[in-house]
Amino acid sequence: MKILQNISKVVSKLLENQVEKKDTQYRYISYCVSSSIPGGMLLYNTLTQELLQVSNDELTTSNTKAFLVEHWFLVPLEFDDYSLYDNLYSCLSSLHSEKGIGKYTILTTTHCNARCAYCFENNRIQSSMTDDTAQLVSQFIQRNHNGKPVLLRWFGGEPLVNQRAIEIITRSLSESDIPYYSSMVTNGYLFNHNNIKEAATKWHLKQVQITLDGCEKEYNQTKNYVNAVGSPYQTVLTNIDGLLHENIHVEIRLNISQSNPPELMRLVDELSDRFGSNDLLNIYPSFLVELKSSLSEKEIQQYASLQNRISDAGYAASKASLSQSLPLNRCMADDPGSIVINPDGYLSKCEYAYHSDWCGNISSDAINRDIASKWCQRSYPDESCKTCALRPLCLPLRHCVENGSCSKAIKSVRMIDLKQKMYYKYRKSIDK
Ligand code: SF4
Ligand code: SF4
Repeated sequence: MKILQNISKVVSKLLENQVEKKDTQYRYISYCVSSSIPGGMLLYNTLTQELLQVSNDELTTSNTKAFLVEHWFLVPLEFDDYSLYDNLYSCLSSLHSEKGIGKYTILTTTHCNARCAYCFENNRIQSSMTDDTAQLVSQFIQRNHNGKPVLLRWFGGEPLVNQRAIEIITRSLSESDIPYYSSMVTNGYLFNHNNIKEAATKWHLKQVQITLDGCEKEYNQTKNYVNAVGSPYQTVLTNIDGLLHENIHVEIRLNISQSNPPELMRLVDELSDRFGSNDLLNIYPSFLVELKSSLSEKEIQQYASLQNRISDAGYAASKASLSQSLPLNRCMADDPGSIVINPDGYLSKCEYAYHSDWCGNISSDAINRDIASKWCQRSYPDESCKTCALRPLCLPLRHCVENGSCSKAIKSVRMIDLKQKMYYKYRKSIDK
């Protein structure tokens, strides 16, 4: 048996090893996820975050059983799994206190140089951050980060349509000696040799998310860039090269529509040929939101195949790596240390709700607590969630666009994602 990931540090402080009792029958805890590998299996405890590799021979030995009991993979038949989770979660939440705001999602503009038909921002009023507002954003950050390192996440629209706002905010933070680093959600088309250098050195850009919808022809048609020169697809790939060269982590998100999975398979091969395996590059598939709730078996199967193709090409087929601590919040919306700033300086909790539902403004430091706590309301579909293997990792929000919805299909997709993360960790341990 091999421990591929240790029990999370915070959980280990609160949860003592379980003592095996004589004459007691044991079963796997509901929060154990297993996945077959050649000659054995991987076991991941979503409650403790421990990941094990166990061979088929080891699985049946008494030593292995004793270890699995001690480490909460096995529990007595009548054990109340949910109470254990609930107590741990409550304890960790009460210990966690967030002072100050360290994470800022900043919409430099809601204008975009691309015209994707599926964009959620279509039909919204568009605006761009003025120089004065950008200065005020920097001052707001300086008043509110409370000594924390500042994480700036550039969002839009296309954030590079208003590069000037990025320059003003980062220059001002540098001049005030505020430590910061940044990430960006971008289509990647407006990068060039000069601003990639500037991004690395002045914006402290560490990570970029770029969406690709298909190979060259399909991509250029879908993005339908304004004033495109040459092939935007080739420009974006060249820019990905440039970003990797500057040690900037690139996450390529493959948007899955009803018709494009075969195209995305070809795209993964193309990307693999072009970039090879690179620890700075992740590729992960993601369904367009409106597709998620009504996935057919065939679509789930296509998703799994795409994940496998990405994984076989040597990439992490998931946006985030395997969780190493029990999550206390789902996203920026229920994270008290996170805020969204729209181009006009209004504050909101969710990046999709920047145009309304404001909880404040950069000119004042007061956050409307009623609105902020509304974004923390959870919404589990039913009682079965209590013993769902994914429960410790699943924190659905009532006011999220996904509205806490779950279905057999969504659960299958989440399980595929989790197993890919387990497998990636396992493969990395072999490569070492
Ligand atoms: S919402 Fe779905 S994935 Fe989350 S705990 Fe409930 S059944 Fe599991
Ligand atoms: S609430 Fe939903 S849509 Fe808003 S940031 Fe969180 S996950 Fe995204």
